[in-house]
Amino acid sequence: MNAEEDSSAKTLDELLSERDQHVGKALSIAHGEPLHITRGEMQYLHSADGERYLDLVNNVCHVGHSNPRVVEAGQRQMAILNTNTRYVYEGLTEYLGRLSETLPPSLEVGFLVNSGSEANELAVRIARAHTGAHDMVVVEGAYHGHTGMLIDLSPYKFRGRGTGEPEPWVHVVPIPDTYRDAERDYAAELGGIVSEAGPIAGFLVESMLSCAGQVPLPPGYLSSAFEHVRAAGGLCIADEVQVGFGRVGTHMWAFEEHDVVPDIVVMGKPIGNGHPMAAVFTTAEIASSFEGMEFFSTFGGNPVSCAIGLAVLDEIEEGDLMRNARDVGRVLMDGLSDLRERHPIIGDVRGRGLFIGFELVRDRGTKEPATAEAKRLVRQMLSHNVLMSTDGPHSNVIKIKPPMVITEEDAIITLESLGEVLDELPKR
Ligand code: PMP
Repeated sequence: MNAEEDSSAKTLDELLSERDQHVGKALSIAHGEPLHITRGEMQYLHSADGERYLDLVNNVCHVGHSNPRVVEAGQRQMAILNTNTRYVYEGLTEYLGRLSETLPPSLEVGFLVNSGSEANELAVRIARAHTGAHDMVVVEGAYHGHTGMLIDLSPYKFRGRGTGEPEPWVHVVPIPDTYRDAERDYAAELGGIVSEAGPIAGFLVESMLSCAGQVPLPPGYLSSAFEHVRAAGGLCIADEVQVGFGRVGTHMWAFEEHDVVPDIVVMGKPIGNGHPMAAVFTTAEIASSFEGMEFFSTFGGNPVSCAIGLAVLDEIEEGDLMRNARDVGRVLMDGLSDLRERHPIIGDVRGRGLFIGFELVRDRGTKEPATAEAKRLVRQMLSHNVLMSTDGPHSNVIKIKPPMVITEEDAIITLESLGEVLDELPKR
């Protein structure tokens, strides 16, 4: 029984007042309106008042909310054994082997932890141990995690309500945003910043930018950036927490589009379909620089997590979800481009596979961000039972990064709803 049927279940108002008492105010509510969600079902979320929402923003439940194969794998393993990586068990090495098969062959040593933040923090520690340097390079607008170190490495956070300025050991390079300025040589600018920085431990970069506004990296940017970073002695760390696991449709990892091999790859969010897991992969040589102090994570790589991770990989493969990301992503991109023809407020449509953004502007010439309109659009889409969200430095980019099981029919319904909502947006 769930709250849809349970008459003794708490009302939304009761839950909100309990939330007010027990949940810190640093946390906001999604989509601008409190939703009392009681059940997940592949690409849909069901609410207590009987509504069904199409979830276009959750890139964690990659193979679908409550995916039956993943649920079964976790339940089965919980009843057999759950211990830690100081013991030998088949699931651990099978899982690490399966993950490393998806990567370039040199990236064969994996560390399993419990969140993207932990994984990024570990990646930076490994880079520091290997290079002996401390400083890091990150991209403007990036978010890499919520720990103390990662807040310092996340301009998305420290620029906003934080101190506003990077720590002296953090070097921030511009967002290579060719929509806002196609003339700039962003990789050369990075090169200048890196050469002025002194010794660096590494460059932490998403293979396609998420919080910075759903920005695909321009062709040649990543390979040239990696050359600059390596020339300065740093390691290149690809944060695939949002964009990995086939989301871009053409490749398992978004960096592959750019013909580069990172020194360290960080995986998170979709890796466990909602079960808290994350991973760091690197070369045997780099991993050997990290042997000075023992590394151990109590929960990282436990048998239940490994079973769940394997089930996620099976679902991606057997469900042909990369092909689905390509096909449905194409329907969405084409439909959004058509909407852009009719609605001047859509300045840009961009993305790969099922990682898409469209940017709202008040004027296509000045590209003034249409921030309030973007917020309104998200709210209006909620009344069409479609969950969307905004991102980017001006919160004017609507992001689409749904579970990979979304269908063409879902895409068409979304585009129809978007057309209606855009027609209704007040014209300036
Ligand atoms: N890297 C990126 C790109 C992310 O988007 C996030 C989470 N939004 C993280 C790292 C941190 O992951 P977690 O919340 O699992 O700690």
